Amino acid sequence: MILKNCKYIVTQNKNREILENFDILIKGNKIERIEKDINLENEETFDCSDKIIFPGLTNAHTHIAMTIFRGFYDDHELFDWLSKINPLENKLTYDLVSVGAKIAIMEMLSKGIVAFIDTYYFPEATLEVSQKYGIRLVSGRVLVDDLKTRMAENDVLIKKQNELYKVVADPYAIYANSTENLKLIREYAKKRNLRINMHAAETRQEVFECYKKNGKYVIEYLDSLGLLDNAILAHCGWVTKNEILILSKRNATVVHNPISNMKLATGAFFPYSAYKSLNVSIALGKDGAASNNSLNLFDEMKVMALLNKNNHWDASIINAHEVLDSATLNGAKATGFDNGSIEEGKLADLFAISETSLEMQPLTKENLVSNLVYSYNSPVEFTMINGKIVYKREFLEEWTQKAKVLSQRIKQFFEKNL
Ligand SMILES: [Zn+2]
Repeated sequence: MILKNCKYIVTQNKNREILENFDILIKGNKIERIEKDINLENEETFDCSDKIIFPGLTNAHTHIAMTIFRGFYDDHELFDWLSKINPLENKLTYDLVSVGAKIAIMEMLSKGIVAFIDTYYFPEATLEVSQKYGIRLVSGRVLVDDLKTRMAENDVLIKKQNELYKVVADPYAIYANSTENLKLIREYAKKRNLRINMHAAETRQEVFECYKKNGKYVIEYLDSLGLLDNAILAHCGWVTKNEILILSKRNATVVHNPISNMKLATGAFFPYSAYKSLNVSIALGKDGAASNNSLNLFDEMKVMALLNKNNHWDASIINAHEVLDSATLNGAKATGFDNGSIEEGKLADLFAISETSLEMQPLTKENLVSNLVYSYNSPVEFTMINGKIVYKREFLEEWTQKAKVLSQRIKQFFEKNL
C-alpha cells in the first residue's frame, strides 16, 4: 500500500523531521520506504495530498471498560466516588465489560490511538474486542487476593499473546497487596519475563500509609522489593527527588494522567522538570472514562502542557513537541511495540488528519505540531494499525449508532443494580 504524496509527515524520528510531499510504502505490517514519488504497479494507493500523517498514539494507562461509568457520579471526592463505583464494579460481567470496551475502542480509534495499556476486570473480554477491532493491547489479570489462581489466569493470557497483544504482571497498587505477595509477584514476573504495570504514588494517603507501615516512600518501597526494572508506573505525582533518581536508574516509565488527577483532585504536583532533568520517560494516559471522561489523547496532551506550565510557573518548561513525544515515542517505550515514529522498518501504526481542518488553520510546517497539541480535538481521517486501516471517517456514523445501541445495555445494568 502506498500513502501517496502526503502533505506532511510528522516522523518523530531522531531529528523530529517533518517531511513535505513524501510517499510512504507499507508492506505487510511495516513501513518499508519513505521517499518522494514511489511508483509501483499493482500496489494499492491512497491519495494523501491533503493529509497530515502522525505516528499512532498510545494511551499508556487506562481502564477502558469504565466507559460504563462515564458521567456517573461525577464531581465527588475520591474516596466517596470509589465507594459508589466499587460495589457496581463487583457486579460487572464479561458481556458488560465487552460493551464498555467496544464503545471505548471505537472512540480511541477515531482519535488516532493505536495501542493502550489496560487494567480491569475480565481482561479476556477487552482482549477479544481489541483483537476484533485490530488495536494493540498490553494487559494482565490483576494479581490480587488469591494469587495462585490469578497467576494461573494470567498464564492463560500469556498463551494468547500475539503481534497485537502483550501481557504484563499487574499487582494493581501497593495497597492491594501485602509485602509477601508483592515478593511472590516479583518472582512470578521474573520467571515469565513479564514487566510490572501498576499504579504508584497516586495519592497523598497512599504515600502516608506506605511511610507509616514501611518507613519508606512508595517508589523506595517498590525498589526495595525489586519491582521497578523497566516497570510501567501510573501517576507518580507524589514522589521525592530520591524516588525520581531511582525511577531513572531502573529505566521505569512514568505514566502521567493529568486530567484524571485534576478531576479527582488528588492534588499532586507532577514534578515534570525533575523527571525531565533525569531523563525519566514520561508517557501519557487517560485513566478510566469515569475519571476523565474522554478517551482521546488530544485533550490530554493539551492539559499535560497546561498543567505543568501552570505548576512550574514557567511557560517554557514543556513544549508541544515534548508532549507529542510522550503520546508517541514514550508510549511505544511503555508498551514495547516497535511503533511511535514513522521510519523505515517500524510498524505501520499511524493516523491522518485533514490539512483543511478548521482547528489547524492557519497551518504551516512550523506550527502544525503546536496546532495538533493545543487546538485539534476532532475525529481523525483514518487510523492504521499493523499496516491495516482499522478506522476511516466514513465509519463514524455507523459507529455512533452502534455505540447508542450498546449504551442501552449499560442503562439496563444501572436499572437493575442501582
Ligand atoms: Zn488507573
